[in-house]
Amino acid sequence: MNPNSAEGRLERLAALPLRENLRGASPYGAPQIDVPVQLNVNENTHPLPAEVRAAILAGVEGTLETLNRYPDREFTTLRAALARYLGHGLDADHLWAANGSNEVLQQILQAFGGPGRTLMSFPPTYSMYPLLAAGTDTRYVAGTRGPDFTLRPDDAAAQVREQAPDVVIVCTPNNPTGTATGLDVIEAVYAATEATRSIVVVDEAYAEFAHTGTASALELLPGRPRLVISRTMSKAFGMAGTRLGYLAAAPEVTDALRLVRLPYHLSAVTQAVALAALVHADALLATVEDIKAQRDRIVTGLDRLGLTPTPSDANFVLFGPLADPTAVWHGLLDAGVIIRDIGLRGRLRVSAGTEAETTAFLDRMVELAAAGVAIPAP
Ligand SMILES: *Cc1c(COP(=O)(O)O)cnc(C)c1O
Repeated sequence: MNPNSAEGRLERLAALPLRENLRGASPYGAPQIDVPVQLNVNENTHPLPAEVRAAILAGVEGTLETLNRYPDREFTTLRAALARYLGHGLDADHLWAANGSNEVLQQILQAFGGPGRTLMSFPPTYSMYPLLAAGTDTRYVAGTRGPDFTLRPDDAAAQVREQAPDVVIVCTPNNPTGTATGLDVIEAVYAATEATRSIVVVDEAYAEFAHTGTASALELLPGRPRLVISRTMSKAFGMAGTRLGYLAAAPEVTDALRLVRLPYHLSAVTQAVALAALVHADALLATVEDIKAQRDRIVTGLDRLGLTPTPSDANFVLFGPLADPTAVWHGLLDAGVIIRDIGLRGRLRVSAGTEAETTAFLDRMVELAAAGVAIPAP
């Protein structure tokens, strides 16, 4: 057998002393294909404003003189800036950050999950949760949602009581469905973990895109020491390349994470870039209203084609079931538009782009519908 073939690699991987629970597993693998219109991983597709780029450059320049030294292990200035951004009476003691909220979630599982412990979330939801569980040897249990992808307080609480997980993650607005979850659900889930003393994580990666008036679970933090609100600069801030995720929680939760984080995990450069961006948060977030308008355009456009978009409070839209989602995905790619097949039967997910990108997607969908390719499942 060719030692460089895929089977050869697989065979050699199987010969390594890999942990049992990682055998046969697949890594996170959203395709990275260089096409003109990339609407597949929910990035903010607007470029950074010139004034913010200049501020970031100056911030990075400022780190150079001491780049021979380890960075501030406590990233104190950044934590204070994140607290100011979130408001809700939070201060630096309530804040924590890492290289993307994926790393934040991994640290939560390192501290509160692990062998003999359980993580629960409610699929269809973020595909990284089971992978983070596998990577930390945490058992993953899947809850269920209603047929319209919503969660009801009584139902979610009953599921949590039955499974008694050590960590629960509720993603809202939920990826990949866009569904916002009411604070009554978070309150009910938290109350359901009173006996097990579980950690309840609310993943608000898309909070900034929610319809006006949608409350953040940050409101629920006072008096709930096991509640954690996770956020990121990868989506609304348009800084996916920076790798900066963060959370707000009781100070003792951040103390638990200090036990598992790697020393100096946030580089001086990352801290400087994130700080400069936060100083210019208003300029960066100016694109959010446009993205929300493009998201609503997608919902209206797909609805007109009879392709059943799911109501969304995020910067993406799930639609279908389609008769042939693979043909639609390829039909879009042929026109230079990449969207995401998230492995949900018959459905596809598209991120809201700039007005021009969104138009390219919608125009192509109209063509594919007229050609009998983009049609609903029978
Ligand atoms: C994109 C996304 C994140 C953010 O990941 P980063 O590591 O911060 O880039 C977190 N949670 C969900 C549900 C996401 O979709």
